[in-house]
Amino acid sequence: MSRGFPKPNRMRKQIIVIGGGAAGLMAAVTAAQRGHGVLLLERNEKLGKKLYLTGKGRCNVTNLCSPEVFLRNVARNPKFLYSALHALPPQKLVELLHAFGCPTEEERGRRVYPKSQKASDVTRAFTKKADELGVRVRLHARVQSLSMENGAVTGVTLENGEAIPAQAVIVCTGGVSYPSTGSTGDGYALLVSAGHTVIPPKPALCGLLSGEAWIKDLQGLSLKNVKLTVTNGKKTLYSEIGEMLFTHQGISGPLVLTASSLIAGREDCRLTLDLKPGLSEEQLSVRVLRDIAAAGKKQMISVLRGLYPGDLAPAMARLAGIEAHLPACELTKAARQKLVALTKALPLPVTGPEPIETAVITAGGANVTEFNPSTMESRLVKGLYAAGEVLDVDALTGGFNLHIAFATAYTAAKAAAANEE
Ligand SMILES: Cc1cc2nc3c(=O)[nH]c(=O)nc-3n(C[C@H](O)[C@H](O)[C@H](O)COP(=O)(O)OP(=O)(O)OC[C@H]3O[C@@H](n4cnc5c(N)ncnc54)[C@H](O)[C@@H]3O)c2cc1C
Repeated sequence: MSRGFPKPNRMRKQIIVIGGGAAGLMAAVTAAQRGHGVLLLERNEKLGKKLYLTGKGRCNVTNLCSPEVFLRNVARNPKFLYSALHALPPQKLVELLHAFGCPTEEERGRRVYPKSQKASDVTRAFTKKADELGVRVRLHARVQSLSMENGAVTGVTLENGEAIPAQAVIVCTGGVSYPSTGSTGDGYALLVSAGHTVIPPKPALCGLLSGEAWIKDLQGLSLKNVKLTVTNGKKTLYSEIGEMLFTHQGISGPLVLTASSLIAGREDCRLTLDLKPGLSEEQLSVRVLRDIAAAGKKQMISVLRGLYPGDLAPAMARLAGIEAHLPACELTKAARQKLVALTKALPLPVTGPEPIETAVITAGGANVTEFNPSTMESRLVKGLYAAGEVLDVDALTGGFNLHIAFATAYTAAKAAAANEE
């Protein structure tokens, strides 16, 4: 395998893409399609390590929702993505994947997956296309620094000291979550060396930790049709009905993952759970009163088991200060009212997010105000571009994060290819 670039033709630019994840693969193919020499540098022994894990191995590549809905699912800096989404809307990504030999299918919530249900087929489609286009891929090639002269990028230097020249460099090194996949934040250091600022990375789309014994005691219990509400002072950040689960260290599940993204980087957020969102407080009160009347001298715990799933019944008894063996007919009005109030707004005290190592996405990253959103080019260094999770943009689950990686990379590569010296 040749180690540098082939002799450049006139007009043929030498473009280096750092990182062979979703963004890097798209950037490499897009730049090569426009006739340029592309060198894709990946530190791992193979491409697309994180891509392989996505969507539980099935890879939720994008979401066919409207642009408005897409942007509503972006937790940080949605406006920065207008141009990129316009350049590569979800439907166009699907068409590209089909053209590259990866048919897709749409599932619930407009989520798109490869028809084969295999994430590896997405990587395979891109690598095959890259190969056809003459993209040169170097594995075990970790970029250590950028070379710059007179405000323009001139190449990169690898960990082994090898310097490789280029007229454009696209940084696609990802964030810092799941570092075992190669995303260890190298891109932040590279961009900082170019004068950029980085918004401190935080875990997002992750479980939340709790110190409460009753929460940990419920580990394994999953709840459906509950409403999780997150408030920050007087502001409601989130209030949705769905599923959540208790873990050995706190809470997780779809509602909690979304909540974690919305609270990433914010202090003093409160979480409350409505265990019966289908009933108003009055309706619930009537239901509880009826259950108690029907139970007569039966123990309160049996009434509670009719109201809540699994071990939540004894937990609710303790939280409401109700003695489990108390005959139902002896329950005081005050205790009954407390039980109803807790059922409608159970505080879930959390201490913070799970470690970033196990977070699905990194919130934070390269400050987007320092990049041109129409080209992803650095406003500080000519010929330097950034795309994907290395940027301070992140979204909720549903295929949005991969689409952001693909769309920003497509935009960057198109611009890098078009930019005249
Ligand atoms: C478990 C899990 C499941 C997910 N599921 C989904 C899903 O179904 N749908 C969705 O939309 N999103 C999903 N995501 C998020 C999605 O994976 C990321 O948004 C996406 O991978 C970001 O792509 P990227 O190319 O920017 O970064 P990455 O995929 O992280 O790729 C960065 C690449 O750069 C390489 N690299 C880093 N530093 C260097 C260096 N110095 N030199 C050379 N190479 C370097 C890394 O080795 C890596 O291969 C999931 C994430 C996780 C962790």
